[in-house]
Amino acid sequence: MLTNDVLDRWDRDNFFHPSTHLAQHARGETPSRIVTGGKGVFIEDRDGNRLLDAFAGLYCVNVGYGRPEIAEAIAAQAKELAYYHAYVGHGTEASITLAKMVLERAPKNMSKVYFGLGGSDANETNVKLVWYYNNILGRPQKKKIISRWRGYHGSGLVTGSLTGLATFHNKFDLPLSQVIHTEAPYWYRRPDLSMSEADFVTFCADELEKLIAREGADTIAAFIGEPVLGTGGIVPPPPGYWAAIQKVLKKHDILLIADEVVTGFGRLGTMFGSDHYGIEPDIITIAKGLTSAYAPLSGSIIGDRVWEVLEKGTDENGPIGHGWTYSAHPIGAAAGVANLKLIDDLGLVKNAGEIGAYFNEAMKDAIGRHAHVGEVRGEGLLCAVEFVEDRGKRTFFDPARKVGPAIAAALLRRGVIGRAMPQGDILGFAPPLCLTRAEADEVVGKTFEAVAEVLG
Ligand code: PMP
Repeated sequence: MLTNDVLDRWDRDNFFHPSTHLAQHARGETPSRIVTGGKGVFIEDRDGNRLLDAFAGLYCVNVGYGRPEIAEAIAAQAKELAYYHAYVGHGTEASITLAKMVLERAPKNMSKVYFGLGGSDANETNVKLVWYYNNILGRPQKKKIISRWRGYHGSGLVTGSLTGLATFHNKFDLPLSQVIHTEAPYWYRRPDLSMSEADFVTFCADELEKLIAREGADTIAAFIGEPVLGTGGIVPPPPGYWAAIQKVLKKHDILLIADEVVTGFGRLGTMFGSDHYGIEPDIITIAKGLTSAYAPLSGSIIGDRVWEVLEKGTDENGPIGHGWTYSAHPIGAAAGVANLKLIDDLGLVKNAGEIGAYFNEAMKDAIGRHAHVGEVRGEGLLCAVEFVEDRGKRTFFDPARKVGPAIAAALLRRGVIGRAMPQGDILGFAPPLCLTRAEADEVVGKTFEAVAEVLG
């Protein structure tokens, strides 16, 4: 077996890591971790650490690590048929079964599922389909996509543009001109603290109206949003937000894409975030929880009204010019089928709702009154703690102090993985949906200690 020292050197010499400070990593200034195993909510590394992963990888290992049911389904599929494409009507039992299972679980008025590999490429598909839709409907100028500041939708060219976080734009010449951003439903950081929740919802809807008026409704194709903002800080919307936004979109004939890459398959205690908030999307993006990341697979669930136009388009123009070699990859599909069965058999959607409520309350009780905790917020098994210099004024810490990363590091030293979110001093949690009360207590207790260590 290769020694850790050799692997560390090879890693720094050869491996281009995503979302990493490349220069520091190459110089050996940042830690590396070689992950070797996982069981339930825990992972293990080559140095013998056992860590409670309270972020489920990248909020994706929904059923937890080390599930033999999914591993066996993948192995069986690989032995029987590792690959065949899905072009011109080809499929496998796994891909066909999975499409049916996804639609059975999806909100109403959904028609078909397209399978990709990850959330970014699924949103790329969605934008292309929305453009195609408007071309077929004879309105080629209706193409812009509205996203929210702090939204996260991927890091490709169009999807990195949809993402409303500066790190994903800077020096990449993004966002592209077809993408425009509107206000995030970030109640805690609302522009005027005297606004009530209802006022702020009206403000968000008005901002959207103003943006549409400025650009012209006939130039705007779709609005994309996560039911709960994820990477942008884990921010549940205030009550009434989605109803107010949908009213504006309907008025201007703008499609709604619900990006459920994080919220799909149970994280909020409902199968989809759209169910939780009464969202009626035209397209739904799925990934992560679709296979619990046991194999790469994403999807676009296409609603009836878009699907009808896509069919019409192919009658007029021939087969749709869209597809990946690995669309509906049999191994991903087999993982998906086994994963969705497991979510049902273990009652994980219900558990996420119950344990999520317990976890959020416990976190609030433990640190919600700390002088530097501005807000503890969450929904289902999503939770975030936002740190501030001054609670009353909601002032940010000097970013150079890196308070969020310091608390995440203090937590890690105690054996728990939380995530310092990329913008602001926000510590995020999104544990596997199989989290138990005892494990929730451990995360909360260690967070209390980590906050005390860094902020007193
Ligand atoms: N949409 C959302 C809401 C996400 O959270 C993510 C990934 N964190 C993506 C899209 C992109 O998915 P991927 O990283 O698989 O491309």
